[in-house]
Amino acid sequence: MDRCSALRLAAALVLVALAMIAPSSAAAGNPLLAPWTGPYGGVPPFDRIQVDQFKPALEASMAENLKEIDAIAANPATPDFNNTVAAFERAGRTFGRVNTLFNIYSSTMSTDAFQAVEREMSPKLAAFGDLITQNAKLFSRMKAVYDARETSGLTPEQKRLAWLDYTNFVRAGANLAPPAKERLSAINQRLATLSTGFSQNLLADEESYVLFLDKEADLTGLKEPLRAAAAAAAESKGKKGQWAITNTRSSMEPFLTYSARRDLREKVWRTYYSRCDHGDATDNNKIIPEILKLRAERSQLLGYASYASWRLESTMAKTPERAMELMEAVWKPAVARVREEVADMQAIADREGAKITIEPWDYRYYAEKVRKAKYDLDQNELTPYLQLEKLREAVFWEAGRLYGLKFTPASKVPTLPDVRVWEVLRADGTHLGLWYFDPYARAGKNSGAWMNAYRNQERFDSDIKTIVSNNTNFVKGKPGEPILVSWEDASALFHEFGHALHGLLSSVNYPSLSGTSVPSDYGEVPSELNENWLPTPEILDRFALHYRTGQPIPKALVDKVKNASKFNQGFATVEYLASALVDMKLHLAATPDGDIDPDAFERETLAALGMPKEIVMRHRTPQFSHAFSSEEYAAGYYSYIWSDTLSADAFEAFLEKGGPWDPAVARSLVEHVLSVGNTVDPAEGYRAFRGKDAGIDALMRLRGFPVPAKSSPGS
Ligand SMILES: [Zn+2]
Repeated sequence: MDRCSALRLAAALVLVALAMIAPSSAAAGNPLLAPWTGPYGGVPPFDRIQVDQFKPALEASMAENLKEIDAIAANPATPDFNNTVAAFERAGRTFGRVNTLFNIYSSTMSTDAFQAVEREMSPKLAAFGDLITQNAKLFSRMKAVYDARETSGLTPEQKRLAWLDYTNFVRAGANLAPPAKERLSAINQRLATLSTGFSQNLLADEESYVLFLDKEADLTGLKEPLRAAAAAAAESKGKKGQWAITNTRSSMEPFLTYSARRDLREKVWRTYYSRCDHGDATDNNKIIPEILKLRAERSQLLGYASYASWRLESTMAKTPERAMELMEAVWKPAVARVREEVADMQAIADREGAKITIEPWDYRYYAEKVRKAKYDLDQNELTPYLQLEKLREAVFWEAGRLYGLKFTPASKVPTLPDVRVWEVLRADGTHLGLWYFDPYARAGKNSGAWMNAYRNQERFDSDIKTIVSNNTNFVKGKPGEPILVSWEDASALFHEFGHALHGLLSSVNYPSLSGTSVPSDYGEVPSELNENWLPTPEILDRFALHYRTGQPIPKALVDKVKNASKFNQGFATVEYLASALVDMKLHLAATPDGDIDPDAFERETLAALGMPKEIVMRHRTPQFSHAFSSEEYAAGYYSYIWSDTLSADAFEAFLEKGGPWDPAVARSLVEHVLSVGNTVDPAEGYRAFRGKDAGIDALMRLRGFPVPAKSSPGS
């Protein structure tokens, strides 16, 4: 067991190193350590952050937190909720602030200098987390409070918190014998390093491969505003007068949709879907097998058959089998729909005399032609009506009408470049929180779109308001010119704003239970649900205004969008489900000692599933940051469809009453879902809102798939 003891030694050394950390002179005057000051109960000090402050701030705040933990653990008084669970909730405030800013930099300001700090600190952060969950004295006090929860006069929320803390400690190994704890901590540190490497490789491949086009002929099929965006991207990379297709989804997707140049489509497709799969320094296939092995080993140490079983235990699905059951129920009808979609596309290609067989780089392009032929809808017709700033106003208006919220620009709040801030007010004018909007792509920022909570709502010691952010990757246009986006991007804005509402409308006592701190397969319900308000006439008539004429989008065009709403759902569902299934199967198959070859596993799994050859996984394994950049969505990519069964069903609750704007249903949604965070079991919260469990029917209707003959509620 040489390898094992070597790792144990390494773990022990980190523990010693951490124990010796004390706030040093380097920490003095470090703005990251200070409580947030300024308006709105304090705001993050984005105007004073230097990358070299992160390491001393993390070290000092970890040391402070460990002292706080020691004090709770050493308390001679009999353990009770207040001196143990509440005290634990109160501890680590400084670390929480520093770590929040560290994570913001990791996802949006990841320069080479920052990445070096991140590589050094990520295993130390993992070791620090284990020092807390492996503190035997603290755990025995937590257990005492948990064991007495039914008889000690706790409120339901306090009981839930005692349960959650106890469960989290057990799931992190608090019950293990000391040698197993050491091994577990060594595993966690190694996993942190591997995940950081995975993310940094992905960012490197997205930033280092760019297709520059220098001839008008290379742009055939592309219209404005795509051309302008590509020109701006080239200019920002020092190639004024050319056009750049960058290696990100927001650049790849529109190019594959509209470019009439099949050779260039294939090139862009191959570049995008081979990120981190080149056998070079940034190849993630070298990292994935070790991540899978270590996750499997840790799960076995903790007494679980697989990583997937460990991971899903704390979700709404509870077991991999239930998640697989849902995915398999949707997979077959989705594949059947793909066959129809491909036949439609092939027919058009044949009619045009293209002499091709539909390949993956043709799918989006010919799907557009089918959309035009079947529904007379050209997505390009929509874009002039979809202005980024108008869509931002649209979500504000929606939140006003549904939930009584008001948004006003917040002044004197320091921000990162191009970020703007709004104060969020309740109908009665009282302060509810802040919403930061970081819309544009920049070097060092992750691709995609996401929400982040900078500060959770709570009112346990004092009434603390939340700070949330929405982050997207639009190409910044010329000053004063509107940024025009696709329908899909508009939908993504509503999605992320739904997460923001989940944070903003939170009304709980304890920050660990606040806002979006719910299992991942429930966390997508508010966001997916919120996408449903974009296509309402109330939103489109007011905010889908032509960027030149100011005229609202014509009703005939809206009708076409509605008619085409189930179009291409075969593609969307299959590219997503293929990723979700491979993610789950990888985490079911992995063992502590067998190496999984990611490329071969992906190939064989997809073949066994009957993956249509015209589609590729939305996230191929070497690029699958949901699964490998962190553990938040590992064996958890199924969360999106799990949540979607609920969000589709939840929207039907509105339709069954007065429609999308029904105030009573909106109130009930806030009361039972949006405000409760993790203070109640998600299944119970949902049932309280809906009066029943969500079955699969609403989801199948929404996607235009056949509804199974006997589907029972609660499935
Ligand atoms: Zn989401």
